[in-house]
Amino acid sequence: MAATAASASLCFPANGNRPTFRIGSSVKLFKRPLRLTLRSDLDSNVSDMSTNAPKGLFPPEPEHYRGPKLKVAIIGAGLAGMSTAVELLDQGHEVDIYDSRSFIGGKVGSFVDKKGNHIEMGLHVFFGCYNNLFRLMKKVGAEKNLLVKDHTHTFVNKGGEIGELDFRFPVGAPLHGIRAFLTTNQLEPYDKARNAVALALSPVVRALVDPDGAMRTIRDLDNVSFSDWFMSKGGTRKSIQRMWDPVAYALGFIDCDNISARCMLTIFSLFATKTEASLLRMLKGSPDVYLSGPIRKYIMDRGGRFHLRWGCREILYDKSSDGGVYVTGLAMSKATQKQIIKADAYVAACDVPGIKRLLPKDWRESQFFDNIYKLVGVPVVTVQLRYNGWVTELRDLERARQLRQAAGLDNLLYTPDADFSCFADLALSSPEDYYLEGQGSLLQCVLTPGDPYMPLPNDEIIKRVTKQVLELFPSSQGLEVTWSSVVKIAQSLYREGPGKDPFRPDQKTPIKNFFLAGSYTKQDYIDSMEGATLSGRQASAYVCSAGEELVELRKALALSELKDAETSDELTLV
Ligand SMILES: Cc1cc2nc3c(=O)[nH]c(=O)nc-3n(C[C@H](O)[C@H](O)[C@H](O)COP(=O)(O)OP(=O)(O)OC[C@H]3O[C@@H](n4cnc5c(N)ncnc54)[C@H](O)[C@@H]3O)c2cc1C
Repeated sequence: MAATAASASLCFPANGNRPTFRIGSSVKLFKRPLRLTLRSDLDSNVSDMSTNAPKGLFPPEPEHYRGPKLKVAIIGAGLAGMSTAVELLDQGHEVDIYDSRSFIGGKVGSFVDKKGNHIEMGLHVFFGCYNNLFRLMKKVGAEKNLLVKDHTHTFVNKGGEIGELDFRFPVGAPLHGIRAFLTTNQLEPYDKARNAVALALSPVVRALVDPDGAMRTIRDLDNVSFSDWFMSKGGTRKSIQRMWDPVAYALGFIDCDNISARCMLTIFSLFATKTEASLLRMLKGSPDVYLSGPIRKYIMDRGGRFHLRWGCREILYDKSSDGGVYVTGLAMSKATQKQIIKADAYVAACDVPGIKRLLPKDWRESQFFDNIYKLVGVPVVTVQLRYNGWVTELRDLERARQLRQAAGLDNLLYTPDADFSCFADLALSSPEDYYLEGQGSLLQCVLTPGDPYMPLPNDEIIKRVTKQVLELFPSSQGLEVTWSSVVKIAQSLYREGPGKDPFRPDQKTPIKNFFLAGSYTKQDYIDSMEGATLSGRQASAYVCSAGEELVELRKALALSELKDAETSDELTLV
C-alpha cells in the first residue's frame, strides 16, 4: 500500500527548539457531522467520587477567598496552567498565562494546519473517574463536548480477532468489574483464573471499604514494577503480554516491566470501586475546539490574558536579609522581543523538560528542586492515517468500502500485536472535526515505546504503521492511505517507573512566591489530563493560602526597590 498521498509532520524536541512543520498536498474538507452518539452529558452516568473515594483525588470545593487580590503569572498554557488560571480567576485574582508555543493546551493541544487538518499532540481518552477535569469542563460549559463510548475495553489482535474486557452489566461496581475479568476473551482460561487471584489479593479490594487506606498501600507499592507485583500475586506473563502491557503503554507509554505498580493500581482501584470509572469518553472533535477553546473563553471572559509565543527564558530571583529566596521577575522573550514581567506569585506549569530548563542552577542545592531532575520524559510518536474506506469495519466488506456512511469500531482500541499500543478511528469516535464526507477512517495511533521511532523519517514511520494496521485488519486490504501526519514528542509524560513517585515535587515550593503545577507534580492521580487539572487546583489553593504573605512580600520588594533607587540617586549626586 502506498504510504502517503499527503502528509504533515511535527516534532517537539526536548531541547526547546521550535517545532518543524511540513505539509504535503491538499485534503478537501467537506464536513458533515455524524449523529452517532446518544449520550454526551456529564450530568448523568458519572460515578459520585465524593462518596467513599480517596480524598486526595477529589478535593472539596475551595472556600471563598477573602484575602487581598493577587497578580499571578503562569508559565505554561497546558491543562495544568489553565486549570490554575480558572481557579485563581474564580477567587478574584488577576492572571496572565505565557506559553512559548503558538497554541494552547500543551500535550492535549491541537491546531489546524494550512489545509484545514486538525493536528493533535496525541490521542486523548477520558476515563469516567476524571472528576476534576469533568468539574472544569462543566465550569467552562464544555460538559456536552464528550461522547460516551460503550462500556467495554476492546483489544484488537492480529488477524482482526477482537477481545473484550466488557463492563456492561446491570449491576455496578465491584460486580461489573469482577464479571468483566472473569469473562474476558482476551485471556486464556488459565491466565484468566490467575489474573483473578492476583486482583483479589490486591489493595483494590481494600479500596471498596477503605479508599484512603488502599491509596496509602498503593503508594507504598511505588518501588515495585507492575510485573513484579502482579507475578508475585500469581499473575502470568501471558496476561501481561496480552492484556496488561497494552494498558500500561496506553497509561504511561511504558510496559509492565517498567511501570510502577502504584501507577497501574491507582487506576484499577478506581475501576473496581466506581461503576463508571472504566467508562471511556472522547471529545466530539478536536481539543482546540472542544476542550481548550471553552477553557480559554472562560479565562478571557474573566479578564485572564494569554501571551502565546512568549517563552520564559529565566527566573530572576534575589535573597532577603533573612536569607530567604524570592522571585523578582521572569525574563520573557518572543522572537526578538524581550520583557521582564513582575507579579505577586509565579506558577511554573511546565512539562518535565520545560521545568528542568527553567529552574536556576543554584536552586538545585535544594533537594526539593534537585529531585525534579530525577524525573525523565518518555518519547512518544502519534501517527494519523486517513483512509479511503473504513479500516475497522471487520464484518461487512462492502460497508468498509463505501464512503456514504461511517462504519467500524467506535471506541478506544488496545492492541498487543503492533508497535502502537492504543488507537482509535477518530472519524467515528470524534466525528465533528474528523468525519469528512467522501472519506473514510482517520486512525490515530500512539506508538509506544516511541524511542525506536524517534529517529526514523516520517515516510518510514507511516510505512511501518500502515503495514501493522493491515496485519490487525486484513479485511482492510486494498484500502489506501490518502493523508497522514506524524507528531513526535521527545519527552512527554514523566516515566512512571518504580521508585519515581517521591521525586515528584509539591506545588508549594521552598520559594515563597514561586509555585509549581503540571501533571508530573505531586498529586494522587497519574500523569494525565486529570492529574494536570488536579495539580492546578492544588497550586491555586497554595497561592490563595499564601495571599497575605505574598502581599507583604510585594510591599517589602517595593520598599527595597525604592531604597535602591534613592541610593543610586545619591551616588549619582556624589
Ligand atoms: C500522545 C499522548 C497521549 C495522551 N493520552 C492521554 C489520555 O488518553 N488521557 C489522559 O488523561 N492523558 C493523556 N495524555 C497525558 C496528558 O496529555 C498530559 O498529562 C497533560 O496534558 C499534561 O498537562 P500539563 O499542563 O501538565 O503539561 P503540558 O500539557 O505539557 O503543558 C506544559 C506547557 O508549558 C509550556 N512551557 C514549558 N516551558 C515553558 C517556558 N519556559 N515558557 C513558556 N511556556 C513553557 C509548554 O509549551 C506547554 O504548553 C497523553 C499525552 C500524550 C503526549
